[in-house]
Amino acid sequence: AKKPPPNSILTPNFKFEDMGIGGLDQEFGAIFRRAFASRVFPPGLVEKLGIQHVKGILLYGPPGTGKTLMARQIGKMLNAREPKIVNGPEILNKFVGQSEENIRKLFADAEKEYKEKGDESDLHIIIFDELDAICKQRGSTQGGTGVGDSVVNQLLSKMDGVDQLNNILLIGMTNRLDMIDEALLRPGRLEVHMEISLPDEKGRLQILNIHTAKMRSNGVMDDDVDLVELAALTKNFSGAEINGLVKGATSFAFNRHVKVGTMAGISDDVENMRVNRNDFMNALE
Ligand code: ATP
Repeated sequence: AKKPPPNSILTPNFKFEDMGIGGLDQEFGAIFRRAFASRVFPPGLVEKLGIQHVKGILLYGPPGTGKTLMARQIGKMLNAREPKIVNGPEILNKFVGQSEENIRKLFADAEKEYKEKGDESDLHIIIFDELDAICKQRGSTQGGTGVGDSVVNQLLSKMDGVDQLNNILLIGMTNRLDMIDEALLRPGRLEVHMEISLPDEKGRLQILNIHTAKMRSNGVMDDDVDLVELAALTKNFSGAEINGLVKGATSFAFNRHVKVGTMAGISDDVENMRVNRNDFMNALE
């Protein structure tokens, strides 16, 4: 383990709010303690404790709740290389016949660097989205191509190999925890599991704040917009849907400044455009 390098976002002034993730502070804190604390503690201490770094975590929950966002921010916090992002269907479909080879390639850079630099190597993060897709066919008796089977086996063997490497963190993501092969979830593999669920009202308010931060600080959101009210009205919205709502409201505001009968003509007073409560209500509908 290394100390967080100078350009990690994990400075003494670090605040969760600055990460742009709404409503997931508890989850983030828990993942940090369970999976990453050892990577940012002084190496001497980690040695004294005799612990091993966590090599893999699984984020599960409904779509659009911020799993990818969280994985990326974790990477920045640990000052990792730009994460490699792959998804299950892509591994299975796009590369039929060479799926195992693709899994091997995923780990190759990190393995090479670890051979050369040992613990001085950068951290490599591999984000595996829709992990359930490669698990579906494993053990299935009907219609499976068997590709999933061998891909899962390849992934398992790579993950066990990761034991000898300190520079890889695999982040698996899925909407279907029940589909994930149990073998992938054992200690030493994707061992920390965290549910990322739909935001509650407080979380939705945070997400609304995040996605309107720019327009608010630039004075283009009307004072009649009440984010507390919107948080109450968006029950069961995911973070992605709240982001969509803000974009939708902006479109309605634009619309008021489009001149009818012209091609993409805009009105002269467009500089005074404000996104107002009505725009949000229209977008909600
Ligand atoms: P999927 O399962 O579909 O891959 P996901 O959980 O990975 O979804 P993201 O890709 O992280 O979801 O979210 C999509 C977008 O929605 C983000 O880029 C962000 O703009 C917004 N978003 C989602 N959740 C949050 C959140 N908790 N806070 C702020 N923005 C969010």
